[in-house]
Amino acid sequence: MMARIYGLETEYGLAHSAGEGDRRIGPEEIARYLFRPIVEWGRSSNVFLPNGSRLYLDVGSHPEYATAECDNLSDLLTQDRAGESLMIDLLNHAQTSIEADGLGGRIHMVKNNTDAAGNSYGSHENFLIRRNLDFNRLTTVLLPFLVSRQLLVGAGAIIPAQSSFQPDVEANRADMMFGLSARSDVMWEGLSSATTRSRPIINARDEPHADAEKYRRLHVIVGDSSMSTATSALKIGSAVLMLDLIEQGARIPEHGLRHAVRDIRLVARDLTGSVQLERTDGTTITPLNLLTDYRDRAQVLVQKGDHSLGDDGMAEYVIDLWTRMLEAIAAQDFSAVDHEIDWVMKKTLIDRAMARGIDDLTDPRISRLDIAYHDITPDTGLFPKLERTGLAKNLVTPEAREKAKDVPPASTRAAIRGEFVRAAHAARRDYTVDWVHLRLNDESGRAVALKNPFESTHPQAEALIAGL
Ligand code: ATP
Ligand code: MG
Ligand code: MG
Repeated sequence: MMARIYGLETEYGLAHSAGEGDRRIGPEEIARYLFRPIVEWGRSSNVFLPNGSRLYLDVGSHPEYATAECDNLSDLLTQDRAGESLMIDLLNHAQTSIEADGLGGRIHMVKNNTDAAGNSYGSHENFLIRRNLDFNRLTTVLLPFLVSRQLLVGAGAIIPAQSSFQPDVEANRADMMFGLSARSDVMWEGLSSATTRSRPIINARDEPHADAEKYRRLHVIVGDSSMSTATSALKIGSAVLMLDLIEQGARIPEHGLRHAVRDIRLVARDLTGSVQLERTDGTTITPLNLLTDYRDRAQVLVQKGDHSLGDDGMAEYVIDLWTRMLEAIAAQDFSAVDHEIDWVMKKTLIDRAMARGIDDLTDPRISRLDIAYHDITPDTGLFPKLERTGLAKNLVTPEAREKAKDVPPASTRAAIRGEFVRAAHAARRDYTVDWVHLRLNDESGRAVALKNPFESTHPQAEALIAGL
């Protein structure tokens, strides 16, 4: 069995629906309301929680939840859902405060990927990789996978039918289509250390949050946030299996793409997976064929049990869903995956709305439907409703989700961090925590570095906690 650490960051969007005569509340003001209990609890809007996660408010009023480090897929899905649930608690609390302050309307939180102003945000995937691996080869092999993966796990989006291939040229937004992912259009490089201006598919910033001699953290910023836990499982699961293959030295051809930035836009606009992508050796291949080849290889690993997704059956599920999705795309019949894949579920809802008499994708009712799919606000969110009524598969039980709001993953260093935060907070001590460090801000200045993210016990940390 291989071992790997992974974590998922999710940024949420905030909105206010004002009634007649209500003052509009902007995202920054909503964010302030939202984080009030957090600031009261941790005296900051950037905190680590007793479940080992990080909850913070970055610039741009997009609250973010970064899961604790996980070493199996089930834990990751559970921790991510716990984050969603914490956000809903904060949202409900904020709604009450807003009403108490005499303000009207309803605030909403969306787990989506672009806002009305066209800003892109969403999700970052983090994977531990070994330092001795050739990073350039890894990214060369991984890029075509990431360019094509949206065919399996995109969130679905209404995007311009013709993409712009230049950052400073606006696409024509009068002619829209249903595509796989809106995020593809904001990616301008394959690999780079910048996250904002040039927006690479893989972020090369070297911040391992671990022993830098042994490890590196791969930061993938191209993925859509997933509403469906099944989509999330396939998104992360397939990426982890790709990394397992690469680290085991599998001879995956370096299907280097000649125009990754163009190709990611082409893939986003082809629901059949049959667009021809040009490779550096002059040959072409389709995303469907690429993903089939990767699936074949990943399946062998899973059959051998030689992977880092955990041994509770999730790896088998990933391969099964991957296979069913490939078959669905080839046959253009999605009935075998229509409870599991975000873009398929969203497209069904949009197709249905169109059939009821909306004749243009630019109709505001369609964009409202799109946003509602990602709305996690209880009562108004569409996806939560699909899940409640059994129309969307849910891999995380409410019991596991609620427990994970307090309890960190047991098998990584997050367990130690969580215990420290809980104990230091209960003892009213002044402390500082990051992914690696635990520190007491008193005269002793005692600190511990958890450089090995796989270690869930650590004698010095335990002594530090015991002394609180
Ligand atoms: P920012 O988003 O503020 O630019 P960042 O990319 O470092 O910073 P955080 O929001 O702090 O991200 O989240 C880091 C994520 O990486 C978390 O989900 C965490 O679980 C995960 N992580 C931490 N250490 C490792 C590691 N050694 N390998 C892989 N993932 C890790
Ligand atoms: Mg972050
Ligand atoms: Mg990040």
